[in-house]
Amino acid sequence: MSSHPTVSIIPPPSSLPKDHHGPFQPSKQKSKSNSKAPMREDQDECHNPTYHKPKYFKNPWPSYRTASLHDAYLAYQLGAAVALPPHQTPGSSRLNLADQEIYEEVEDTRGEDGSLRSDSASLLPKKLYIRPDFSEVKEDDLFDDWREPPVKTISPTWRDQEEVQDDVERREKVTWLGHAGVLIQVPFRDGKDYAGVLFDPIFSYRCSPTQYVGPARYQDPPCKVSELPDIHICCISHDHYDHLDYYTIMDLWKYHQSTVHFLVPLGLKQWFTASSIPSTRITELDWWHESLISFPPISQSYKDDDDATYPPSEPEVRLSSETTLEEPSAIKLKFAFTPAQHRSGRGILDHMTTLWGSWCFGVVEDEDRARANERGMRDWKGFKVYFGGDTGYRYATAPEGDDDAICPAFEEIASHYSPFTLSLLPLSTGSSLPFLRTVLSLSLDQYTLTSSLHCSPLDSLEIHRIIRSERSLGIHWGTFCDLDEARGTRVDFGRCRRKLGVSGEWDDEDEEAGGNGRFVVGDIGETFVLPRRN
Ligand SMILES: [Zn+2]
Repeated sequence: MSSHPTVSIIPPPSSLPKDHHGPFQPSKQKSKSNSKAPMREDQDECHNPTYHKPKYFKNPWPSYRTASLHDAYLAYQLGAAVALPPHQTPGSSRLNLADQEIYEEVEDTRGEDGSLRSDSASLLPKKLYIRPDFSEVKEDDLFDDWREPPVKTISPTWRDQEEVQDDVERREKVTWLGHAGVLIQVPFRDGKDYAGVLFDPIFSYRCSPTQYVGPARYQDPPCKVSELPDIHICCISHDHYDHLDYYTIMDLWKYHQSTVHFLVPLGLKQWFTASSIPSTRITELDWWHESLISFPPISQSYKDDDDATYPPSEPEVRLSSETTLEEPSAIKLKFAFTPAQHRSGRGILDHMTTLWGSWCFGVVEDEDRARANERGMRDWKGFKVYFGGDTGYRYATAPEGDDDAICPAFEEIASHYSPFTLSLLPLSTGSSLPFLRTVLSLSLDQYTLTSSLHCSPLDSLEIHRIIRSERSLGIHWGTFCDLDEARGTRVDFGRCRRKLGVSGEWDDEDEEAGGNGRFVVGDIGETFVLPRRN
């Protein structure tokens, strides 16, 4: 087992926007001795526990709106987007808005050099987006993705059976672990091992304050936490129960404590330290803040098991410098915490008191090293990932021509970090609304009710285009909902993807097919291998 990486904070430029910060809390203690403390991550005001911290956070864009009464009425009339298997679709007495032309056909949006473009006309429909009604068989149903079952759990192989041979080239891999949980494995440059980067893992039966009641899984997790390969970095997008699960984090610490370091949103470090994880293994980041992660060379990182101690040795969190970049390492990664349009809170009184967001990370290749301490990763040569977590994209019931209905954060993320080799993008509401539907028999359409907080499949495809993602994988669907709802997501996503000219083939040889990028949905536990990079 390799050892833990070293985490360094890149000093954030003072010009970063802070319009998502609520009022600051007065400093609880002002200690003169602190002013002489050595340079550490807490030099930055947002990271210093004795300095002012925002009391709460907010979405700073006009696209973030609370659902109106009319939205609630429409959502109630529509019900959830569920689809019975095609041969079982009875007539429906529900309001049928499905005949509206909701998509706009688009041409290939590649630039003249064949690269993905982000400046093409929007793929957005002109009209209000209403999720499809699956109660009627449509003409193009033959082309729809009615796979049965729409999602299932398989035992992960991590695709490593083919790597027994030494001469097999190692490539980046991504495995969907269910809901928003994803493992990305990036090969070390000097050995057989991989850096393991985990996002929003949940292995519990329920995503709830208690395991006795609350949204429950319909799909098992693909393995146990103890069976995961080496995990070095665990990123959390926000503190909702379906993204931050106490039992999963405790297992992760129990079985991976010799390697794992947690990257968390501003305000969430306290939750981890209260859960007995050493503070040196947790790094809090504000929006647009970045850190460098350096893995020791393989020759230095293998430890004799007899040397194992408890608590495990603690990595030093320090400010990044040229030295960090020049030190020998198996691999260097740059992480950035970026915005999302969402909320936070685990109880009644803590709403919006910790931050939420999305994550970008990239491999620092030799060509990119000189720019590694500068903000962003735009046009880097290395493998780059965007993790959307849980986010809204637009206020779905905004009147036509209301340009403010779309969250501008993704354009801004693109301007600093695009293009991405791989993106993980949410396709559905995931847990709370399916719970209401199946337990309380209250069926509400997510796209009209919580569009400020969640993506529809069409919204995700739009984010995929804006951030210029070569390959995307759908997350945040099909886990805490029944098969009828998972089928609805899968069919709707397939329709939107087909009409927008985005390929659904991960490994298609046909270059033309990837003109608008590739966006797939997989099974829980399925591993996708990234193609060799030129
Ligand atoms: Zn959430």
